[in-house]
Amino acid sequence: MEIRIEGLCKTYRSEGRTVAALDHVDLTIPANEIFTLLGPSGCGKTTLLRCIVGLETPDAGEIRIGDEIVWSAERRIAVPTEKRGLGMVFQTYAIWPHLSVFDNIAYPLQVRGAPRARIREKVAQALEFVQLRGVEQQPATRLSGGQQQRVALARALVAEPRVILFDEPLSNLDAKLREETRKLLRRFLGELGITALYVTHDRVEALALSHTIAVMQAGRVIETGTPQHMYFDAQHRYVADFIGRANQFQAIVRHRESDFTLARCGLGTIHCQARDLPEGAEATLCIRPEFIRVTRHEVGPGFNVIEGTIESMEFVGEVYEAEIRVNDERLLARIDPDVRTAPGERVEIRLDPAHCLLLSA
Ligand code: ATP
Repeated sequence: MEIRIEGLCKTYRSEGRTVAALDHVDLTIPANEIFTLLGPSGCGKTTLLRCIVGLETPDAGEIRIGDEIVWSAERRIAVPTEKRGLGMVFQTYAIWPHLSVFDNIAYPLQVRGAPRARIREKVAQALEFVQLRGVEQQPATRLSGGQQQRVALARALVAEPRVILFDEPLSNLDAKLREETRKLLRRFLGELGITALYVTHDRVEALALSHTIAVMQAGRVIETGTPQHMYFDAQHRYVADFIGRANQFQAIVRHRESDFTLARCGLGTIHCQARDLPEGAEATLCIRPEFIRVTRHEVGPGFNVIEGTIESMEFVGEVYEAEIRVNDERLLARIDPDVRTAPGERVEIRLDPAHCLLLSA
């Protein structure tokens, strides 16, 4: 079910300080998608989630779930949390230690007074889904962190929510378990075809899981798009920087053609991806390290070729990562292992214009 947010504002006042946690947020979360709010600590992700759930009262704006307005300042509508039809999975698993796995998962159905046979059937389905069959009679606390998080997920699922919301659900798991649980989550959210709103500050998690990512900064949504868009074609410097490592250089737009834009920066005059920026405009040239290659392989026509001096190089498996000095600039680049070179040597660097992004300053 789609969620639509319009003009949402939320200000906190504490100890004489005022914080605009949400600053006129407009957002549409399409039905049946995994939609991620990504941003650094304090940017307002959790506040937005809590406003949608109804645990926090916004100051202004409107929230719709499907066709229903669940909150509106203007229309004075405030549907209570339990009537919004949402499921939540938190960072802390929020499972009850004194209950068995079965009773933890069955809880939302028991509260509603569902018949016993139905409860058994739904819990069995949910256990199957999160791959936890066979542990239903164990105390929930005897399970590992990853298994406890799956219990929390199963509990959210049995209630058949219209939307399921996740607040940093993997951040208490170790790296390996986090990856495993992420894959499992992606698979069964895909199979369920449910709308999922996911909050994280982990860019890899956002890239791996989401259909759409919204990057937030200081209470605002800066940019929204697919993981590929955000990584390869971001429009904002902040987004390009937050979503992955990026070399950035101050640049001036020199010339525009239909299929490329020419910009002058500390590296020289560089052919960049076409952007709708006027000649003379100040911009930031942004290039991901994996697209700056020192290679013996032939590259396509139209590549930028510049020269630099290797300052340092490190073998990271498959390739070397190197710091290369070009004029007064330093850039992070990749060197193919078959290129025999060493720090202090001059090398030719190839830059694909398609991966040289000009972002307006
Ligand atoms: P994190 O990833 O650390 O949870 P976040 O992006 O979820 O961060 P929020 O928790 O939504 O950010 O907080 C947004 C801003 O609002 C922060 O500056 C925070 O300090 C402030 N804030 C949040 N809750 C309250 C509160 N109950 N009282 C006062 N200020 C608050």
